[in-house]
Parts: sequence; C-alpha cells; structure tokens
Amino acid sequence: MTSKLPLFLNGEFVKSKSKKTLEVTNPLSQEVLCQVPCATKEEIDQAVLSACDAFLTWKEIPPPERARLMMAYAALLKEHQEELAEILSKENGKTFEDAKGDVWRGIEVVEQAANIPSLLMGETLENVARGIDSYSYVQPLGVCAGITPFNFPAMIPLWMFPMAIACGNTFLLKPSEQDPMTPNRLAELFVEAGAPKGVLQVIHGTKQQVDDILTHPDIKTISFVGSVPVGQYIYKTGTENLKRVQAFAGAKNHMVIMPDADKQRTVENLVGASVGAAGQRCMAISVAIFVGKSKEWIQDVKQEMEKVKPGPWDSPESGYGPLISKTAKERVLSLIETGKSEAMCLLDGSNCQVEGFPEGNWIGPTLFTDVPTSSTIYKTEIFGPVLLTMNVDTLDEAIRVVNLNPYGNGTSIFTGSGRAARKYRHEVEVGQVGINIPIPVPLPFFSFTGWKGSFYGDLHAYGKQAVRFYTETKTVTERWFEGGDSEGANLTIKLK
Ligand code: NAD
Repeated sequence: MTSKLPLFLNGEFVKSKSKKTLEVTNPLSQEVLCQVPCATKEEIDQAVLSACDAFLTWKEIPPPERARLMMAYAALLKEHQEELAEILSKENGKTFEDAKGDVWRGIEVVEQAANIPSLLMGETLENVARGIDSYSYVQPLGVCAGITPFNFPAMIPLWMFPMAIACGNTFLLKPSEQDPMTPNRLAELFVEAGAPKGVLQVIHGTKQQVDDILTHPDIKTISFVGSVPVGQYIYKTGTENLKRVQAFAGAKNHMVIMPDADKQRTVENLVGASVGAAGQRCMAISVAIFVGKSKEWIQDVKQEMEKVKPGPWDSPESGYGPLISKTAKERVLSLIETGKSEAMCLLDGSNCQVEGFPEGNWIGPTLFTDVPTSSTIYKTEIFGPVLLTMNVDTLDEAIRVVNLNPYGNGTSIFTGSGRAARKYRHEVEVGQVGINIPIPVPLPFFSFTGWKGSFYGDLHAYGKQAVRFYTETKTVTERWFEGGDSEGANLTIKLK
C-alpha cells in the first residue's frame, strides 16, 4: 500500500479523513507513487477558517518583512531546485532539464514577489482642489484561492501564491491531482523559509473540492489555470458566486514562417516549441504557417523531428518524456487517427516504443501537412507532440488565419524583416507575441497576457496586473482647515 499524501492545513501536514483517494502514477512505468486524497468539505472549511485567522495578523505585517520572506523562499527554492525537479520529473514525466526550467520560472516569480514594497505603492496628487490632497493605498483582500493544472506543477502554483501572499493575503492552493507531490514540497519549503502558520493552505482533490472552493463565502478571489471547458466553468461559477476570477485556459498557438527567416534556426526552434515537453505546454507551437517559399522547409522540419527521441526523465538523450497519463495518450492517439482522414500525415508517432519502458505513455513526434482550418485537429487543442502545418502566399493571409482562431495565448513570427515583424506584432490578435522567439512567455516583471478564448477575466498573472488582482484600492481625499471664516454648507459635489 502506497502512502497517502497529506493536506497542508494551518501550518501542518495532516492526514485527510477522506475515504476517497486517487492514484498518482509514474508516467514512465504506471508505478503508483502515492495516493492523493480528495479533501472533505470539513477539511476545506477548516483550511479557509485557518486562512481567515492568519489573514488578520498577516495583513498587518509590513511589506518589507513580507518581501524578506520571499527572498528567503527564493533562496531556499534555488538550493532545492534539483531535488524539486526530480520529484517533478517522477510524477510528471518531464525531462530533468525541463523540470529544472519549470522550477526556475517559478523562482523568478518569487523574486518578483520580493519587490512587493515598490509594487504596492499607491498614487498621490497634491492640490486636487485648493488645499486638498489625494492619495491611494492598495490593501489585501483576504483569502485567495488557486487551482492549477498538471503541466507545470512548480511554476504555476508559484505564479499564484507568492504574489498573493506578498500582497498581504492568505492563500488556499488546490493543485492538480495528477502531480500533487511537487506542490506539497513547495509548501514544505515555504514553511522552512519562515512562512507563518495558516498563510498558505494546500488541499487536494478534483471537481468536488473545486466546487467547494468556488462556492465558499469567505474566499475572495479565484486564480485558475487549466483546460478551456473547465476554465469557462470556473469563470462562470466563480463570478456567479461574486468572486474576482482570473482563468487561464487552453490554446492553439501559431508560428508564422517568412521565407526571409534564418532557415536552420527556424526549423530547430519550431521543433523544440512543438514537441518539447511532449507538446504539453499551453504555449507550445501547435500550428506552423509557412508563407510563400518557406514551405520548401517542411522536409527539413520532418528530418529535425525524426531526430527527437522521447525517453525517461533521467537520460540526457531524452528529447521529452511520456504523456501524463494513459487517458491523455489515448486522447492524443485518437486525434492523430482523426487527423489522418483530414490532412497528410508526414510523420506518425502513434506506435512509439521506448526500450526498457513498455508501459510508458509514449507518443513520438507527429507531423501533419496541408491541414485545413475546418479540420478537427486544427480546431482542437491536441496537447501532445503533434505539429500541424499549412501554407499561405502572404503575411496578410497568415495574420487572417491566426486572428480567426478563437484562442489567443501565444504566437510567433520568424523573419529577417523588421517590417514584417512590426506588421505582425501590431495586427495579430494574440496576447503574447514572439519575434524570432518561439515560446514568448513573459518574465515576471511583465504579466502573462493570454487573450480571447485562452483567458477569462480582466487582470492577468504575475507582474503589476497580479498586484491589482490581489488587492483593493483605497483612495483618500484630505483637507486641513487653516482657520479663518467658514464658507457655509457646500450644497454641490464640486470640491472647493
Ligand atoms: P484541467 O482543466 O483538466 O485541470 C486543471 C485543474 O482543474 C485541476 O486542478 C483539476 O483538478 C481541476 N478540474 C478538472 N476538471 C474539473 C471540473 N470538471 N470542474 C472543476 N475543476 C476541475 O487541465 P489539465 O489537463 O490539468 O491542464 C492542461 C490544460 O491547461 C491545457 O488545456 C493547457 O493549455 C492549459 N494550460 C493553460 C495555461 C495558460 O496559462 N493559459 C498554462 C498551463 C496549462
């Protein structure tokens, strides 16, 4: 019998009373790594109550002290980066190098959270009217909650709780049930860095636990990252329950390839961005649009893809790991089969096997060409190592295709022309644009700004937008009488 993963309630790791558990499996071998409990309603209530209590003290802690906690946490995470990456690789399947990247991109957000005093500064204006000054403060909201996906079990929880907590809130995290061991370790290290009791709570589970969060009267905000249908559900249910919600959802990201681009670098970047992490990235490039003569490079893309070999996380030879689960593999295989009747399959990774790991959820690099925009494989987020390509004659046509797509997470143009790049970045209706950069995930001093069907809400993750999401603004208007005669009652709204 494998161990049951604890919940993190009121500063302590405790065994859940829930009888309902799910298995966390190693995607390489199907070995059961642990049981993850589906927290009971009472445990969730207890977590929220403890977070409410902790808020009363935590909100009064001066921002420089909160910043010091984040500095200590970032340092500790760096010290434990490899250990965290190993836990992450074992439960998620990601290669060790990629897992270290997952942890690192999270650490960068913690570093940003350590800048919180300057990020929290309000605005002032003297003499808004004669002898009257105005200024604003931002204040924390209370208990904030986060619901995270399987594909970045370190980075995405770290997008959320460090910024929320640095702003003076307390936080309830519900990580993915598919790789919950990494987030538990993140919580353990947070305590070791000096986090006070109750400031962070981690509960585990699936839909029922998410519903308990969405309807809990004492939770003020919901941050969600995951698939489109769940994102829409979270946004609708969360706002219906009068909460502030930011929901980051799925995507279909296009790379536009101009004939004047650097061919070798374009091909290599395209392959890395499409099949890296087995395509299980919300910013993966899943569609390449070849403009004009660049379509002649499709054979080079195929050759480059053939060089990429999936394998176990701890082998430096592995290009990427297995898919997260057998279910995910079956879903991608079925989409590949559908694709064969919709487009040309130039490279088929359906029958991929990796020596020594017969039970791994393997899918090899897969390439479809001449993919119509009406096809299922174009309209669906495949979330596997599958690249679709299409050819157009002009940049205008490419922009039209991208803008007609309902998603708007990321896109990229590879070109040697400043004019083409400028036109693309200006006209494309996508929130994160790379110019000769395949996966343009912004660093944490900016915000993660997906658009259209890839995001539901107003304020995005990390950066200045996260500070606005996790705080309320209070504006003060102030006057000090100087003596002399009073002016009588002011019966208008005008400041005198
Ligand atoms: P998912 O939607 O299945 O799960 C995300 C979270 O929601 C998990 O914690 C899960 O337990 C919970 N959940 C699942 N079903 C639910 C339901 N019916 N009701 C309430 N909660 C539910 O997503 P996933 O498979 O873990 O992650 C992959 C998806 O996340 C992809 O679509 C990917 O594009 C997206 N993603 C988006 C971003 C972004 O920034 N836009 C980043 C990473 C991943």
